[in-house]
Amino acid sequence: MESSIMSYERQRMEMVKTLIKQYGVRNPRILKAMRETPRHLLAPPHLRSEAYHDHPLSIGRGQTMSQPYMVAYMTEVLKISDTDRILEIGTGSGYQTAILSQMAKWVFSVERIKELSMEAQKNLTEMGYAENISFKVGDGTQGWVEHAPYHVIIVTAGSPRIPAPLEEQLADNGRLVIPVGRRFHQDMTLITKRGHELETTRKIGCVFVPLIGKEGW
Ligand code: SAM
Repeated sequence: MESSIMSYERQRMEMVKTLIKQYGVRNPRILKAMRETPRHLLAPPHLRSEAYHDHPLSIGRGQTMSQPYMVAYMTEVLKISDTDRILEIGTGSGYQTAILSQMAKWVFSVERIKELSMEAQKNLTEMGYAENISFKVGDGTQGWVEHAPYHVIIVTAGSPRIPAPLEEQLADNGRLVIPVGRRFHQDMTLITKRGHELETTRKIGCVFVPLIGKEGW
């Protein structure tokens, strides 16, 4: 037992070294959160040995736990501060949620598949991360209007377009990151709200599972 705990910890340090050396991730708050979060506890038990590998993992229901680099990349472009209120669309395994919860004031996380949301809620509560997280089961393309506006919105599924409710629920100077494009290939897209204007920047290419909902696929 002890040796497998040690080995997960070593694997986690190696994962973070790869993020720094291979991908140039620099933000110390992201690196700290990723060094400290036991990602294997959020992976399905039969895939725990792969939890620190640099690829997505299947979490059932046709969904995935995102590649660690993608988690770090999306978090980095959002320039999160500890006073931010964040809306996350696509709770999935809860790993990205756990990272965000350590970097921001509050995380509001929406997932359309009830079983995934319940599993993530249970795990994040047991791991002690849930104190500044609110969960909802529903169509995240509609946002979560009751708690808007948000300083940061992160969408962890690929969309054919930017859902209008998410733009509307973004605070002034707020940042929204979302993979936008075709079903099997998207561009990571960063939107910054400046008054009534939206600045849009296309970043790296990526492949995410589809954002399914009224304003998605
Ligand atoms: N960050 C998560 C992780 O690492 O585990 C990513 C999970 S996966 C790439 C994307 C998630 O978005 C899936 O769990 C999927 O069910 C969810 N999803 C898709 N469309 C959604 C929608 N309209 N509202 C909320 N969640 C949605």
